[in-house]
Amino acid sequence: MTEAAALTSPMIVAEDVRKRFGSNEVLKGVSLRMAKGEVIAVIGPSGSGKSTFLRCLNHLETIDSGRIDIEGDTLVANDAQGQARYVTDAEVRRICARMGMVFQHFNLFPHLTVLENILAAPLTVKGMKRNEILPKAEELLRKVGLLDKRDAYPSRLSGGQKQRVAIARALAMEPDIMLFDEPTSALDPELTGEVLRTIRQLADEHMTMLVVTHEMGFAREVATRVAFMDGGELIESRPAAAFFAQPEHPRTRAFLESML
Ligand code: ADP
Ligand code: MG
Repeated sequence: MTEAAALTSPMIVAEDVRKRFGSNEVLKGVSLRMAKGEVIAVIGPSGSGKSTFLRCLNHLETIDSGRIDIEGDTLVANDAQGQARYVTDAEVRRICARMGMVFQHFNLFPHLTVLENILAAPLTVKGMKRNEILPKAEELLRKVGLLDKRDAYPSRLSGGQKQRVAIARALAMEPDIMLFDEPTSALDPELTGEVLRTIRQLADEHMTMLVVTHEMGFAREVATRVAFMDGGELIESRPAAAFFAQPEHPRTRAFLESML
């Protein structure tokens, strides 16, 4: 994706996003533009604001000031007083429905089977008919390699399998953008590969994705761009190869050295 394309058809535009929890300023003016088909790996130390930034993008957190546009539609922008003002609730829902999110701890419904987990949102949120969504749900389960687990409950699955169900569940809503918050951090090391492979497969299909991760190998190989956050700021964001070969900022260099 060229720089020009990123500017003309951005999927996400975040401008000077600020967020505080009490006296703790957690996002100190974060800006990011993301083009269609980009895979951005967001890396940075614990507490740097990575999760909060992701959560602000799909309105799991509100922002204090700044602007967020999703696929050209404004979700929130400053009013004349410089305070963030959201669009109507209906608009917020419509815009945020274009983003799927996958969390560190899977967040599957424990009382529902794998298949019912995948059907739940399309049935209730989109009001689709079971027969309409069933073929798609089965196709998604096949895609993540879990069709044989369709009638199992989450408690019978490994962490890697749970996370793959969570990915299929998010995809069932047919999002244009996928947000991942440390999708492999809760997994035993031998299970991270199967989840990363699933995300890589989505990258091969040109899904637009923002992935918070500590997996530097994955960031290097799969991400088109790597963004480094530290202390509530987005310090630099550059193509993956350049980012790892020549990190520009001393804080990025220090962080990468700490990961060795
Ligand atoms: P990261 O994901 O990079 O580890 P987070 O976005 O989770 O960082 O957290 C950034 C900062 O915001 C931390 O200081 C954290 O304690 C604080 N924080 C996150 N969520 C909340 C919350 N709901 N209430 C208060 N403080 C929070
Ligand atoms: Mg986090």
